[in-house]
Amino acid sequence: MSKIRIAGYVKHSMVNGPGVRFVLFTQGCPHFCHGCQNPETWSMQGGEEWETSDIVALVKQTGYLDGFTFSGGDPLAQSGSCLLIAQALREEKHIDLWLYTGYTFEEVWAGAAGEDAKKLLQYIDVLVDGRYEEGLKAIEGNCLYRGSTNQRLIDVPKSLQQGTAVEFVL
Ligand code: SF4
Repeated sequence: MSKIRIAGYVKHSMVNGPGVRFVLFTQGCPHFCHGCQNPETWSMQGGEEWETSDIVALVKQTGYLDGFTFSGGDPLAQSGSCLLIAQALREEKHIDLWLYTGYTFEEVWAGAAGEDAKKLLQYIDVLVDGRYEEGLKAIEGNCLYRGSTNQRLIDVPKSLQQGTAVEFVL
């Protein structure tokens, strides 16, 4: 799966994880959260189709970066393509990888998003997990990098090592 549909990207973001980050907004989401800020990303037919290698090349050409963030949509709706990007970035650029998803860590680990999503976890440093819950909307300062307070920052390497979700300490 060397192609990916994307809704867009931001080369230098300061709001989707710590530091200066390249953010890729993937197209397609199966969660349909009430109050979602980006409903135009829900359709799997929307956005633009790119080669995953062109995304990697664009990231490599981008100047200083602390990290790369998969956002959406839900990146796990195209986890095979995101896996290719994550593998290439791990080989070619020393930056940390965050991934936003409407699935919980436990759901991903149980296979709810497919086998490629489980493989992708091996390359992710922090998973921002869970559906957006409008009634739990984050207010400024109480839930950094998340839209609602039910969402968690999961330290993926520690969680995989310990076999249970471990929250990431900022
Ligand atoms: S998971 Fe994210 S993109 Fe998908 S519907 Fe929920 S808030 Fe919107």
